[in-house]
Amino acid sequence: MMYDQPPAITIIQAGEMKLSFECTSDGIVLLSFMDTALDCELMASQILPLFSIKMRNVETKEETHLTADTGWKSTSIEKGDNSFSLIWEMDKLDVRLHGKIDNANSSIYWNFEIENKDKDMSIWSAIFPQIGIADLSDDGCVFFPRGPGEVQKGLWDRDFRHQGVYPEPWTVMQFVSAYNRQTGLYIATHDPNASTKTISIESRTNEKSVVFTFEHPAENMGVGGNNFELSGHAVWQLLRGDWFDSAMIYKNWLKENARWYPKLGKNGRTDTPDWMKELCVWATTSGNAEQLVPKVKQFAEFLGVPVGFHWYNWHQIPFDNDYPHYFPVTDGFADGVQELQKSGVYVMPYINGRLWDTRDKGTEDYQFTSVALPSATKDENGEIYTESYGSVESDGSPVKFGVMCPTTELWQTKIRDICLRLIDEYKVNAVYIDQISAMSPRLCMDKTHGHPLGGGHWWVEGYWEMLQSIRDAIPKDRMLTSECNAEAYTKWLDGYLSWTWQYDGQVPAFPAVYAGAIQNFGRAYRGGETADIALKMKAGQQLVFGEQIGWIDPSIINQKENADFFRQVVRLRYKLREYFYAGEMLRPPSLTDNMPNVKADWQWAGEWWVTTDSVLTGAWKLEDSIVLIFVNVSDNDVISEVNFDLAKYGINVNTCELKSITADGESQADSSLITNETTFFAHQAVAWKIKAK
Ligand SMILES: [Zn+2]
Repeated sequence: MMYDQPPAITIIQAGEMKLSFECTSDGIVLLSFMDTALDCELMASQILPLFSIKMRNVETKEETHLTADTGWKSTSIEKGDNSFSLIWEMDKLDVRLHGKIDNANSSIYWNFEIENKDKDMSIWSAIFPQIGIADLSDDGCVFFPRGPGEVQKGLWDRDFRHQGVYPEPWTVMQFVSAYNRQTGLYIATHDPNASTKTISIESRTNEKSVVFTFEHPAENMGVGGNNFELSGHAVWQLLRGDWFDSAMIYKNWLKENARWYPKLGKNGRTDTPDWMKELCVWATTSGNAEQLVPKVKQFAEFLGVPVGFHWYNWHQIPFDNDYPHYFPVTDGFADGVQELQKSGVYVMPYINGRLWDTRDKGTEDYQFTSVALPSATKDENGEIYTESYGSVESDGSPVKFGVMCPTTELWQTKIRDICLRLIDEYKVNAVYIDQISAMSPRLCMDKTHGHPLGGGHWWVEGYWEMLQSIRDAIPKDRMLTSECNAEAYTKWLDGYLSWTWQYDGQVPAFPAVYAGAIQNFGRAYRGGETADIALKMKAGQQLVFGEQIGWIDPSIINQKENADFFRQVVRLRYKLREYFYAGEMLRPPSLTDNMPNVKADWQWAGEWWVTTDSVLTGAWKLEDSIVLIFVNVSDNDVISEVNFDLAKYGINVNTCELKSITADGESQADSSLITNETTFFAHQAVAWKIKAK
């Protein structure tokens, strides 16, 4: 291509998606992103570079930024059959974006490669995709994967920014979407390796734009002449639907491709013990056996179903101090475990799977420097990454933990040995390994560890190896869990603690994608003046989201109204439990538009108001039967119509069989319940089990 010719426009059509690229003398620009079915421009008027690359001089550490729109020696666009390539070249750097067109789905699957022929320069990070979406008007929504997933409205008119280093609790999956009732866009990376990447959502109110950015730290960042290749594909797809449809696009890819998606049988996970899949409720508290065993037994007796118990401070070392030296245990631990198990309680002690205290025997550096240091994560200057969590040493100074590198044999062996000792010697049913699925990968640059420096997917692979070695060594009736729900560890864990699901506007996208693949358990139940209503909202939402209920202090049973509501939800879940571990989540039913709201202070980080509908809804399918679940968490009866598309599942609403199920019993009901207005009674949880006749 000659550079002194006038700019040429190249049109790429993928089904109803039409992209217009301008190839200028020194760059390529995406000018337009149209939904041709509606003749609607989706791209914001402020044009962003298609990609950006951060380069670093190996000697001087000076940074250079390259963008797709300018500064290139030559550019070209090649069109093939159902594919095209955008090519940028300069003396020592070539960039290629290759797009595969899927007309049926109006989507493009992108490859992104950078070839770096300059030994003096290193690719530090690369951004792609990066796209600003135009104002989708009053009903415009943005979905992003914080916690269970979250939908925000009206972002084009207010300041908003969210960013996370995937995989972590606030960026649990790799897709976002922006949509209104007619059109929208699904933007994702379908990366089967769960590589480290920063996913950002940012509103730019002046430009009436919401910008989505995926930034990838490069493998071997800082090493001259490193190349970059996007792991998997970036995906742009026209969206006809909402967050649930976005989740289904992602799930369809995930099931067949992601390395962390487990094998599922007819009854869900084949490698998770049945007791864990069937479990409906969790208690958690802290202390020695004498302090807590009687309370947890009473809790289990009150509920009358099997109970999981998450045991904190079973060890003699203080919490968040002197890790990882968890032994010896506190007095009575071994007997306490057995006594609880005899009462139908499954015991799961806490450990941390990521941290080694830099002063790991009181204020003394006992083994950190002599044993742990070589296996700790380090930055490019060789400094260890450290973290503090509010705990203090006996001299009042903060406990400073080194973050351990999961690829190292020392750390893998250390955590495995702790788990095996708890399981073999103390006969616990499970071990909770804190922080694995709760913290972003650290960009470890220690060359002696043998993994690529900085970016890539070695971090999650380190944990995969560690967890696999534990799974291989424990009896089949034991299991492992971790904190939060970063997706990349699903195959090697049996449960994710969903306690961070605390946001206004959250939707069950994670359960919609991962139902059956992992059991989610536990919200943070907290205090305050609205604690009672917050408890109902959380327990009700857990039920319809398919989570195991609770993660609550066993003393809840002493609060009559809360205890009765909690027990009702747990016992209804027990009747429906198979749907959650062996079934799939369907789009939740919607109720009438004028549904009254409830709000309460959930006390997540200080005062924390969350608003939900008074009646929370869920839909789950198991073979040919569907349950619709409704929980009225408010203090008032609510009359509403239910909108749910039974015909989509081959069920005729006029002739179907309908059973109404509550914690206390089951009754045949008339299928007109679905077509007429229904009263949802205050504080009541009910399920309708529906089958074609
Ligand atoms: Zn490392």
